Amino acid sequence: MIRRSFLILLGALLVLSLFAACGPDAQIEALSPDERAPARPAAAATAIPMVIDPPVCTASPVPVLSPTPTAAPTPIPVSDPVILLKGGESLTVNAAFTFEDPGFTARDYLGEDLTSRVVVTGTVTSYLVGEYALTYAVADDYGNSTRIERTVTVQPVPLPELVPPPEKTIYLTFDDGPGDHTALLLDILKKYDVKATFFVVGSRRRKDLIKRAFDEGHSIGVHTFTHDYDKMYTSLDAYFQDFLATQEVIRDQTGQYTTLFRFPGGSGNTASISRCRGLMTQLTKIMEDMGYRYFDWNCSAGDSNFHSGQSASHYSSVLCGKVKKDGSPTLILQHDLNRNSIQALDYFIPWALKKGYVFLPLDMTSPVVHSLVKN
Ligand code: ZN
Repeated sequence: MIRRSFLILLGALLVLSLFAACGPDAQIEALSPDERAPARPAAAATAIPMVIDPPVCTASPVPVLSPTPTAAPTPIPVSDPVILLKGGESLTVNAAFTFEDPGFTARDYLGEDLTSRVVVTGTVTSYLVGEYALTYAVADDYGNSTRIERTVTVQPVPLPELVPPPEKTIYLTFDDGPGDHTALLLDILKKYDVKATFFVVGSRRRKDLIKRAFDEGHSIGVHTFTHDYDKMYTSLDAYFQDFLATQEVIRDQTGQYTTLFRFPGGSGNTASISRCRGLMTQLTKIMEDMGYRYFDWNCSAGDSNFHSGQSASHYSSVLCGKVKKDGSPTLILQHDLNRNSIQALDYFIPWALKKGYVFLPLDMTSPVVHSLVKN
């Protein structure tokens, strides 16, 4: 009986232990991991807020929109343009063959360059001493405009003071060369160490003799380029052209321009009367205002007729007879195209030196000898 009770008790214990083994936890063990309920967090003593990182925003790209094409307002100048005159509004220049405007710039209120639109009116007669007005005007596209004036004063070129030469000074001057006999003339002058002045013709073939004369210490002046009265004495412009052409030849040969010149036929010529009335009256003033000095003569060898057949001794007696005896300067006119006239110097020069005369080349301080202007 006891044994049987023991077995019953043992059976009961076994059942109880099985029951205990089949509790909720034992059931979970039997479930697959996916079927398990999430573990319940242990109850905390104090509630701590959970910090959760915000989700990463992967925003879709925002399209870039072109600005709506709204017309930008065009700036409009609200003030008049401005003209700036280089050299100022009052300009003084020396009389010259040409006048060159120093220039100007123009801008509108917004700074746009309007220089090319400037209209200049008025003229400056560059070789006539006086006062001139030039007007500069410009307008923009909006009706704004400006107009200013420049006063140009043309003044005479200051000439050097004349210096009285030594007593008994002789200035030998030769027109119309260089020619075939100019080399001989230079040889004679060199022989006596005498300096002279050559008023040259720019169109001559032997231009190299201009250089030789210059290099040997003689003065070079303009005579003419064409020596054609029908061309050079028809107007101021015609004379200027002729003069400047000769200046270029002189510069080519000597490296510099000259300020000395002699009018063909002299300033007292009558050849210009029928060609341009009043021309010499104008030219004699204008050329000096521009800084040039012209020289006539007070003693002529009378040798302009190259084919007259006069001998060298004839010309030397003319010179000896005409040279100033009172000590005042003698300015002699000869032509180096006349061989006999040149050869006369081989007698005249030593004669004059023996008499105490001195020979000098002309320069800007030499005494001027001017004829009476007839036109
Ligand atoms: Zn001449």
